[in-house]
Amino acid sequence: MIVTGSLVYAQQMRAVFLDRDGTIIVDPPDERVDKAEKIKLFPDSIEALRKLATLDYAVILVTNQAGISEGLINEEEFWKLHTIVLEKLAPSGITILKTYICACPHGHDNCGCRKPKPTMLLQASKELNIDLEDSWMVGDRQSDILAGVNAGTKTILVKTANVPVESKEATYTASNLLDAVQYISTH
Ligand SMILES: [Mg+2]
Ligand SMILES: [Zn+2]
Repeated sequence: MIVTGSLVYAQQMRAVFLDRDGTIIVDPPDERVDKAEKIKLFPDSIEALRKLATLDYAVILVTNQAGISEGLINEEEFWKLHTIVLEKLAPSGITILKTYICACPHGHDNCGCRKPKPTMLLQASKELNIDLEDSWMVGDRQSDILAGVNAGTKTILVKTANVPVESKEATYTASNLLDAVQYISTH
């Protein structure tokens, strides 16, 4: 007997992996989203995700949560805040298939999952049957781009970090998430 879960993901999917902070929501000046009041979408996020929802991609979030790593919030508080983020995204009609986080302590030498490591993407690929070569990693930092490169995806750097960076490894550099989704829709 085949269970429902395996049926759903029996066919290989392509995915857009999205970083959260600095990509979908504003990275606050202190760079930690540890309170509900700090959760603020970028002006184009809803429109971007609305367009992304019409494309044939699974949408997966992959986020290094330094706030947990540093003990500012615990994992339970993170998921509460994350629920608020997902509620704010709901008007776009997007389905976030799954959210992967690295919550390992900062400076922990044995953390195997923090981006730029590809572990979260590889895990998603295994669990959800994702074709990484036909997928995208989108984020505001070089660590996002390298996580994508290390996992074998195409990559898009969005210039919406507190201090926007350059990446010569990125497949494309977008001004914001909407620009990134527009690029994905035509490539
Ligand atoms: Mg980020
Ligand atoms: Zn980790």
